[in-house]
Amino acid sequence: MEKILVVEDERPIAEVVKAYLEGEGFAVTVVYDGTAALAAARHWRPDLIVLDLMLPGLSGEEVCRKLRSESDVPILMLTAKSEEEDRVQGLQMGADDYLVKPFSPRELVARVRAILRRTRGGEVPLAEVLSFNGGELVLDTARHQVWLGGREVNLTPTEFKLLTVLSRYPGRVLTRSQLTQQVQGYDYEGYDRTIDVHIKNLRQKIEPEPENPRYIKTVYGVGYKFEGQSDGV
Ligand code: CA
Repeated sequence: MEKILVVEDERPIAEVVKAYLEGEGFAVTVVYDGTAALAAARHWRPDLIVLDLMLPGLSGEEVCRKLRSESDVPILMLTAKSEEEDRVQGLQMGADDYLVKPFSPRELVARVRAILRRTRGGEVPLAEVLSFNGGELVLDTARHQVWLGGREVNLTPTEFKLLTVLSRYPGRVLTRSQLTQQVQGYDYEGYDRTIDVHIKNLRQKIEPEPENPRYIKTVYGVGYKFEGQSDGV
């Protein structure tokens, strides 16, 4: 039975989430603050953590960063903010996905299942095939496969993650720091150049003309953005 740790100080919400997840066959533990969350994560070893951003004491943000420094347990962040900037920041903190309050418990269960499928290696193909420029570049995020012009491309896990992060936000500039946090799971001064190296390697593999990139554009002095035209698959 898969174990879900729910971290939410608003007890009525915590109770509903617990009831729904238990109804779906998960083992659920609820804690009401960040300190208890860290302790439970260490000792109970959940398969996934549902983490509210707004917590008393240690914030959800701090808990997320702390958890990320210790493990790669999947985290579904609950947030009251719906602005794109805030959503990206949630992912930047290391969360795997986010859900904006108010949410339906069914939606939460669906997200939990999706994240678990994804992080288990995707034995069930999730409808997460991203296709760009009329099928020239295709990513299957569940199977960790990428095709360029119908030919499969072998990416390292880091390159794959980088491409996934960029292509989920077409047209949006992501800073080196944001990409580092997403890809490495933490930020570290001096790592900026590492991202540049990964980008260069990635371009060699997924760009028809690596010297004249069509998908991953450099935004000078800021970072990178993905420019593919989504086929809406
Ligand atoms: Ca809260």
